Amino acid sequence: MANEKFYTVNGKRRVLVVDDEFINREILSNVLEESYDVILAENGAVALEQIKANRDTLSAVLLDIIMPVMTGLELLKILKSDPALSRIPVIVLTSDSDSEVASLDLGAADFIPKPYPRTAVILARVRKTIELSEDRQIIDLTERDALTGLYNREFFYRYAEQFDQHNRDTATDAIVMDIQHFHIINERFGNAYGDTILKSLGNVLLSMADGMGGIVCRRNADSFMIYCPHTEDHESLLYAASEQLNALSDGDSAVHLRMGVYPNAERSLAIERRFDRAKAACDKARASYTHSIEFYDNSLHDKELYEEQLIDCFDAAVEEKQFKVFYQPKYDITAEKPVLAGAEALVRWVHPEYGMISPGVFIPLFEDKGLIEKLDEYVWATAADRVADWKKRFGRTIPVSVNVSRIDMYDPDITAIFKGLIEKHALDPGELHLEITESAYTDNSEQMIKKVGELRDIGFRIEMDDFGTGYSSLNMISRLPIDLLKLDMQFIRGAFAKKRDTKLLEIIIEIAKYLGVPTIAEGVETEEQYLALKEIGCDLIQGYYFSKPVPAEEFEKFIAEPAAV
Ligand code: C2E
Ligand code: CA
Ligand code: CA
Repeated sequence: MANEKFYTVNGKRRVLVVDDEFINREILSNVLEESYDVILAENGAVALEQIKANRDTLSAVLLDIIMPVMTGLELLKILKSDPALSRIPVIVLTSDSDSEVASLDLGAADFIPKPYPRTAVILARVRKTIELSEDRQIIDLTERDALTGLYNREFFYRYAEQFDQHNRDTATDAIVMDIQHFHIINERFGNAYGDTILKSLGNVLLSMADGMGGIVCRRNADSFMIYCPHTEDHESLLYAASEQLNALSDGDSAVHLRMGVYPNAERSLAIERRFDRAKAACDKARASYTHSIEFYDNSLHDKELYEEQLIDCFDAAVEEKQFKVFYQPKYDITAEKPVLAGAEALVRWVHPEYGMISPGVFIPLFEDKGLIEKLDEYVWATAADRVADWKKRFGRTIPVSVNVSRIDMYDPDITAIFKGLIEKHALDPGELHLEITESAYTDNSEQMIKKVGELRDIGFRIEMDDFGTGYSSLNMISRLPIDLLKLDMQFIRGAFAKKRDTKLLEIIIEIAKYLGVPTIAEGVETEEQYLALKEIGCDLIQGYYFSKPVPAEEFEKFIAEPAAV
């Protein structure tokens, strides 16, 4: 085993010998000194101080049982109940077999009888104990989620399979739980508070799963999985979890839990798939007062089958060029007449069997299944090719904005991919605009800001898509490396609902102006909206008012007559 993982002094691990008799301490330290860095304590109380002070550096404790002030058993109890100290293995030094049993029950790793056996036996026992404990720690590290201490996903699945093997005739439920709008909690109260909530929820679910004879893990972020014997009463489980969690969190804001259940989960399905079903049910659960629950049912099953088919024919679809890139014009409305400013590339799937499938259906699916990068690279390449082609044929650049999925941004090669793209098509980086959704920034701000900054430094223009749907505050925009703020459609809908109220819109555009970031409104459908946005000072608009997304050939009519309406 790799030595450097564990603390040593001159290559020696540190051990503590606790014994009230001087002579015993002497004997043991003589035996151990050559192989270990030995520290000594003369009673349980002193030992506890020593252990606390050395809790990250101690490899083992050799502990006498009968001592004044604090006995060995008392100390052992304290150590094993303190999560920060319980990893340190304790070897009990004892002369009677009753306390041997008692100490093993309390969690002692081993014992050494008194009078002491041969030196070699003592050394062997200490070495063995330390090795075992270090193996255990390495396993724990990889098995467990650092924040909650629960199993991680991989180990959870493996344990669930073991559970199945040992309980062949037990019906089981796969359950996924998460916190509604967890990112808002993070946003409002800070990540430290968010972490506390996750830890509390982990504890609540752990004791709940224990009570049911099941197992639990953190799936990712705020999502947890439980695998347990079938129960009919998930409602009360969820209710109890929600109650306990809200009792623990001192917050004035209730935490809303969601639960998705795949009851009597089919054993012939891979365990991962069973939890995909629970997750699908959970995604369907919507906000109710404090909790809500959904079950995997026929409609989800049909959806799953449909999605499976889409996934299955993905490769062939790319191969056969079933994905078409459409273009929707963007107009600059700062002058008297709107002027064509560029286009957004939007992908469509013309499926031989299902016809035209909306990206709203397959993009989230592809993001989930790890296919989005391949599709996006295809769309980007098509768009870059188009820009080059138009440039050649019309003698001017129509910048095209491509959508960059949140997932794409985690690709370490993303910068290289875009660089390669413009080199291949002999474009300037400024001729390709990148639409990055606002929620990508809130997922992982620091990393995202860095990545986006890199792309921007190369010269790509960055547009923040869907602004208003995520939770980045306006003052965050001044820190973000962006060139254009794209106000989400819902936002425009709100302003022009039955009762027209453009106040919020005005404020945002005004602040964006103050920060020097131009704005584009998407989903503009009427002349009224166009005129109001122009009046308010919005710089660009995109929407059915000018045109739906259309095939490239059709788009060329907008290039031929750049000023519209
Ligand atoms: P988005 O980026 O917010 O794109 C705008 C969506 O609004 C498009 O839907 C567009 O057709 C639609 N739209 C534009 N103007 C109007 C309007 O005036 N009224 C209404 N009702 N809708 C309008 P679409 O094409 O269905 O795309 C949906 C989403 O799929 C996009 O939202 C984007 O997030 C994603 N998407 C589309 N193409 C790609 C792609 O190539 N890669 C990635 N990663 N995502 C894509
Ligand atoms: Ca977009
Ligand atoms: Ca959008």
